[in-house]
Amino acid sequence: MKTGLAKIPVQNSFCASCSHQIRKELLKIEDISNVHLFPTESLVVFNFVRANELSTALNVLTDLGYPQVGDRINGRNHHPPYCTCTRMKQKNTYLYNRTTV
Ligand SMILES: [Zn+2]
Repeated sequence: MKTGLAKIPVQNSFCASCSHQIRKELLKIEDISNVHLFPTESLVVFNFVRANELSTALNVLTDLGYPQVGDRINGRNHHPPYCTCTRMKQKNTYLYNRTTV
C-alpha cells in the first residue's frame, strides 16, 4: 500500500517526555504509523495512507495545542499546548536572570 510521509512543523514547543504522549495520540488514528517527534525542531513526522488521515492527524495536533505552522488560530480552535514543561523552564530561567541581575 502506498503511504505518504507527512512532515509537520508545529507552532508550539514540546519536550521529549510529552512527545511520547502526543505520539500515542497520533498512533490511535488508523493507518498512521512511524510517528516521530522532534522536540528541538517542533517537528512531527509520520506516515499516512489516505489524505483524510492526514487531516485527522492535524486535528489531533490542533486539539493538543500544536497547530501546523501557518494555520491561523482563532478563539474557537485555540487550545493550550499539551506540554507546559518548556514554558515552566523558560519562566524559571527568567526568574533566575532577574535575581542574578
Ligand atoms: Zn513536557
